[in-house]
Amino acid sequence: MPSCIICHLNINENTDSFKSCNNLHLVHKTCLAEWLMHSHSCPLCSEPYPQSLIDQFKDYKDMKEQEKQAVLDKKLQEESQKKMQAVADKILFLKFVESIEQLIEEEKFNEAIERLLDLYDENSTDEKDLNTLFLLGKANYLKGRYDMTINFLFKLVKIRYDYPDGFLYLGKAYEKLGLKDKAQWAFDRIKESK
Ligand SMILES: [Zn+2]
Ligand SMILES: [Zn+2]
Repeated sequence: MPSCIICHLNINENTDSFKSCNNLHLVHKTCLAEWLMHSHSCPLCSEPYPQSLIDQFKDYKDMKEQEKQAVLDKKLQEESQKKMQAVADKILFLKFVESIEQLIEEEKFNEAIERLLDLYDENSTDEKDLNTLFLLGKANYLKGRYDMTINFLFKLVKIRYDYPDGFLYLGKAYEKLGLKDKAQWAFDRIKESK
């Protein structure tokens, strides 16, 4: 029994659809359909397939190319949607930070802290959550809850060492509690983390 030069499996001349190059190298029709996507010559002898044969597979090739294009289009669309979503999220977060800073300025610390805690995800370490942690530390400091400040900001600088403002409020909180050595430690870290 002859075999297909592409997949090397047998070709049953009674039941399989198959084609051949001019040098009688046989291939399954389905194998040839895939092969023609890459080349128009016989994989074994490099003899070009006759145009009439190639034309028989034109619809298949068009369909495959359309499928490929559709996958690419979808991917591009998803990427641009993701980008737009990221921009929208960022703007929304900046607005949120602005509103928190406004509350802090108006000395509405409890309201600011409540809203920050609503948003804060303690399992996340992305920029948004680190920023939220910092604001939680700062709002608690201004409220006079230095223990809470230390709690939040220590968590922050453990994740992100280069956060000078985090060390600043951490040091200030230690100072308020009379922990001079720890305050000095935090203030020294400010220079290092810049
Ligand atoms: Zn085959
Ligand atoms: Zn051939």
